[in-house]
Amino acid sequence: MASGRLVRVLHLYPELLNLYGDSGNILVLRRRLEWRGLCCEVSEVHMGDRVRAADADLVFIGGGSDREQRIVCEELLAQRQELASFVGDGGVLLAVCGGYQLLGHSYIMGNEEVRGLSLVDLYTDRGSPRLIGNVVVESCVSPQPIVGYENHGGRTHLGADVEPLGRVLSGYGNDGKSGQEGCLYRNVIGTYVHGPLLPKNPGVADWLLARALERRYGSGELEPLDDFEELAANETMRVRLLGV
Ligand code: GLN
Repeated sequence: MASGRLVRVLHLYPELLNLYGDSGNILVLRRRLEWRGLCCEVSEVHMGDRVRAADADLVFIGGGSDREQRIVCEELLAQRQELASFVGDGGVLLAVCGGYQLLGHSYIMGNEEVRGLSLVDLYTDRGSPRLIGNVVVESCVSPQPIVGYENHGGRTHLGADVEPLGRVLSGYGNDGKSGQEGCLYRNVIGTYVHGPLLPKNPGVADWLLARALERRYGSGELEPLDDFEELAANETMRVRLLGV
């Protein structure tokens, strides 16, 4: 594996979108690169900053309350084109919960409609009760079922050409009814899974890193890591929730 390869991560609004330790996802991306002798450069985007997605390999948007989501949405709408070009060009993007909802056309809360970025053909409306609890999802991006925690009022509905990230084995997922969780569109993953997501789901982390490296260097080959602890943590949750 050639060293010196670099993945540039853009972390959007960590001070506003960091529910349930979502920023821990950034630590995992960094460590998994460094353990392989690769480099990771993380740039945080704060309110008032320009989103320089064209310079990034991987964009991360965490989850937030409805209030924080409104603030971020307004800020990002003015820079929508930058993110749309990134996604259109195969840029890798991970968005969790509130961040996932932002990817769609809108987030409808009763009489209020917050316009989204329309990066992915989906929309969200708010339902009752909140969908709260541990979740297990079978997904093509991970050899192990994805485990984590969800807490959302929003129900997300995917457009016809958008795949779900996976199938709910335990928990609620996008709407508590369809059996679908998250979205997978080009190199974009949207998901309701907090935890944070990546520490117990190394397959998802490596999927993102491989896509980012492939786009930048033409090869997404990744040296395998000893994921004993990560997989043990994943298995503990899986067994607790599914009994297998
Ligand atoms: N505000 C959104 C909802 O409740 C997202 C919450 C979250 O990020 N956990 O649906």
